[in-house]
This record gives sequence, structure tokens and C-alpha cells, in this order.
Amino acid sequence: MKINALVTGASGFIGHHLVKYLVHGGYHVRGVDLKLPEYELSAAHEFVTADLRHLNACDEVVRDIDEVYNLAANMGGIGYITSVHADVARDNVLIDSNMLEASAAAGVRRFFYSSSACVYSVERQGWVGAKPLAEWEAYPANPEPAYGWEKLFAEELCKYYWEDKKLSTRIARFHNIYGMLGTYQGGREKAPAALCRKIALSPDGGTIEVWGDGEQRRSYCYVDDCVEGIYRIMQSDIHQPLNLGSTELVSVNKLIDIICKIAGKRIYKQYDLARPQGVRGRNSDNTLIKKLLGWEPSTKLYDGLVHTYQWIEQQVKIDSGGKS
Ligand code: NAD
Repeated sequence: MKINALVTGASGFIGHHLVKYLVHGGYHVRGVDLKLPEYELSAAHEFVTADLRHLNACDEVVRDIDEVYNLAANMGGIGYITSVHADVARDNVLIDSNMLEASAAAGVRRFFYSSSACVYSVERQGWVGAKPLAEWEAYPANPEPAYGWEKLFAEELCKYYWEDKKLSTRIARFHNIYGMLGTYQGGREKAPAALCRKIALSPDGGTIEVWGDGEQRRSYCYVDDCVEGIYRIMQSDIHQPLNLGSTELVSVNKLIDIICKIAGKRIYKQYDLARPQGVRGRNSDNTLIKKLLGWEPSTKLYDGLVHTYQWIEQQVKIDSGGKS
């Protein structure tokens, strides 16, 4: 018999890829989002537009569902999430608490929660040589304002619903997911997509603006690895949070150099130190996921960026009526 899955945030970047993955894997998938997907039709068998900040909407969409993949969130890149703290915190607390309550009440078998590396204490990420973050290091807590605090609180909520109401929860902490079919313009885009867009729009020998001094370091996880990791974590019996990220650490300057190589362009960098750049250094420690699942994300940054850049370059051309 087919398993009925609900993907919330199904029109979002990761949700859209996850819907495809689950449909391909034989699931019957219901997608839900505030809006329809932007770049291609959803592969979901059923698609509901609803606002999950309301409990009655959550009650409706979880009906007859076996597995919930809760990815809906008010979120975006560093520029966005640092500018709307109240909205981000309130919207996400409502979505997450209502989805947990509705899922527990409906007898959902498994509930996946998409947490973030933003739950880690900012003190542990204050310099470029900061050591990779292991799961236990989220406490004592001092995450990023609003978005990070909400994610950490929602992880706690998952634990309470598992302990008190036997809702079988799973939690992954995503580390900078990138890939095709993600937001690349408009203010909510993240660094890899924004840089691909800037480089695609720039002529050879041109200059792009870089937020900060470009020495901030991150690891970036390709979206195909992310959806496979979500699936593997959901199938496991592990209730504690697991990092879901790559360990290939690069500076933003290095990230730009890789994209330039793919684009075949020589680009100059102009640094804007007044722009937000987030923590100084962040990497994923994958010891736990390797130990518990015998697996970790493995797509090389260069390979993932080839697909991402090609797609964004094509989008930019379409946006400019083929003139770019
Ligand atoms: P996204 O913004 O592309 O997708 C989120 C989707 O949720 C959007 O389509 C949005 O319309 C929908 N949504 C927002 N509010 C809603 C509401 N009230 N009701 C119904 N739908 C609503 O984000 P994404 O990159 O696909 O991220 C998916 C999840 O993963 C989010 O929970 C996010 O916090 C988490 N995450 C993502 C990253 C990353 O690098 N992309 C990193 C860490 C955590």
C-alpha cells in the first residue's frame, strides 16, 4: 500500500525537490504551501494552498497522512532574516506548533522537522577557524536572533511531542542548502544563488558587490544530498537532531572564484562591509550522522555549483528576454 506523505512548504526550494523525490520513490504526496511553485509545476498528486499559521488549516491538510515533512517557514538569506525578526519568529512558531499539534491529534506516524545550523551558539562561530559544529554544541544556547531561536525552540517542541504525545519526530539541522530551482533574486535568495546571479549578469572583467570581506567561511550542501538525507533520517529511529550538511568548507571569496571558473569569467570583487555577513565561520561536524546512518552528503561543491550556475544563468537570460 502507498504511504501518504504531506510536504509543507512544497513550493519552496527544498520542498519542491523533496516532493519529486518522494513521488519517484512511490509515495502518494500531498503538497501544501501559501503559493504555487515558481519555476515548474509541482509533482505532488494533490496540492493545497493554505496558510499553516492557522491550526484549522493544519488539521485539514494532515487528514489521512502517514508521514509529515514540515518544511514550511518564513525564511530567506541573511539580508532577509536579519531584517524581519518579529514576523519570522511569530510565523514560524505558529506553523511549527500548529503542525505538531495537528499531526499528533491526527495520529500521524512520523514527523520530520527541518531545523537549521542557525541553532548553534554564535560564540562558537566567531572566527574563520571555528571548529565544525557537533550536535551537542547547540547548548548552552545562544543562537542567531529570531530565526535561530525559533528553530531551537521548535526542536524542543518536537522532543516534547515525542515524549508526551508519542508523535514520532525526526529533526535535521540543514547547513546552507543550494541548487537548481531555488530563489535567486528578490531579496530572499542565499549567498550561492545571489553570487551565481551577480556573476551571470556581469560581463567578463566586470565587478560584483560582495557582502562583508568575503573571508567568512561556510560549507554548502547540494539539494539532492539534502533530500536524500531527509529521507534517510525519516526512515531511521533517531529522534535527536542530526546535522545535514557538507564538510567542504570554503570562504565566500573562494566560492566566488569557483563560480567564476564555471562561468568562464574574470570578475573583480567590491566589498561592502556594512552589509550583514552572519557568523564568521561555520562548518558541519558529520561524526554523528556517519555513525548513526553510515551516510553523509557527498556531492562536491564544484559539481553542485555547475548545475546551479547553469540553471541561474538560463533564468537570468529568460528574465532579460534573452538579451543577457
Ligand atoms: P523556501 O523559502 O524556499 O520554502 C519555504 C516555503 O514555505 C515557501 O514556499 C513559503 O511560501 C512556504 N510558507 C511560508 N509560510 C507559510 C505558511 N504560513 N503556510 C504555508 N506555507 C508557507 O525555503 P527552503 O530553502 O526550501 O527551506 C525549507 C525549510 O528548510 C525551512 O524550514 C527552512 O527554515 C529550512 N532550512 C533551509 C536552509 C537552506 O539553506 N535553504 C537552511 C536551514 C534550514
